[in-house]
Amino acid sequence: MDILGSQGRVRWSFSIARIAGVDLRVHASFFLLLAWVGYGDYVGGGMGAMVEGMIFILLLFTCVVLHEFGHALAARAFGIHTPDITLLPIGGVARLERMPEKPLQELAVALAGPAVNVVIALGLFAVIGKFSGLGGLFSADGMETGVLGSLLAVNVMLVLFNLIPAFPMDGGRVLRALLAIRIKRARATEIAAGVGQAVAVIFAIIGIGFGQPILLLIAVFVFFGAQQEAAFAGEKEAAEETSVAQIMRTTASVLHLKMTVIEAARTAMGEALPAYPLVDGNLRLLGMVSPQELASALEQSPFAPVESLAETRVDRLPSDISVARARAVAEASPQALFPVVNSSGQLVGIVLREDLRAGVKPG
Ligand SMILES: [Zn+2]
Repeated sequence: MDILGSQGRVRWSFSIARIAGVDLRVHASFFLLLAWVGYGDYVGGGMGAMVEGMIFILLLFTCVVLHEFGHALAARAFGIHTPDITLLPIGGVARLERMPEKPLQELAVALAGPAVNVVIALGLFAVIGKFSGLGGLFSADGMETGVLGSLLAVNVMLVLFNLIPAFPMDGGRVLRALLAIRIKRARATEIAAGVGQAVAVIFAIIGIGFGQPILLLIAVFVFFGAQQEAAFAGEKEAAEETSVAQIMRTTASVLHLKMTVIEAARTAMGEALPAYPLVDGNLRLLGMVSPQELASALEQSPFAPVESLAETRVDRLPSDISVARARAVAEASPQALFPVVNSSGQLVGIVLREDLRAGVKPG
């Protein structure tokens, strides 16, 4: 079981290795699982059974890690980095820095994980067939096929389970990607998340009904993961469809070219802003003045023209660009305030960094 995540690093986990630039992490509770399985095997069959059980769990999770690397390497092919892969008792999480936006790329990344298990299963199938005959695989007493046979079964299960369309699990991402070929991504996410939550409820019922705590955990993970992803996709689409003009502030203190420092300071005192836009008689943006510059000039040369204080290399936002694009501009800029200008370069409003950070409501 795995969930491809694009949210933050999993807490209570620590790094055990670094492979191909990806940090391999293990969640603390994973050791609880090991201890639990180990104890069960020890009680049931003594030391030998315990060692065998441990080896099997480690082999199983090696297959899970390889599955996650399938996702990570497919993502890398599209230029997307995977900072870490974390092992949890319920499976692995490959944290991609982002999901590919193109449906076919997302499809490839989602399928790459289960594809690894298909390859492993085929490999095991061949090995078992060669050494003990495939008959051993289907007979209950095939001792020599024991561990390999179980591992083969587990890999087949990993493929089938992951392809259940329980977004944000792999199958759900496949569903979202297939839908997104035809309809808008936010809507596709909404549908996939709805299906995912329905499946999560079924998981929960089975988990409770048949006493499967792991399945119940997965249900919780899927349910809230789907909700979060749908909200994230909705906000992202809203940010792409909302223009800067729709969220900008239009009543801000603005400095005029002809003002002296003392006049400008008087205007600035009316409203605390991280910077004040400076305009000419036609409202064309000339630059910005920082409150610190203004304060120090007030002591030294109060009657100098304020224009001399203006920083003219200013990142400005055209009023018709989307909030999503404005966020990208803000990301690369040190400014806390962005003047918004129309096509003639006239100031029409301002946007604070925090205005861009605030979520945009899907319309
Ligand atoms: Zn996966």
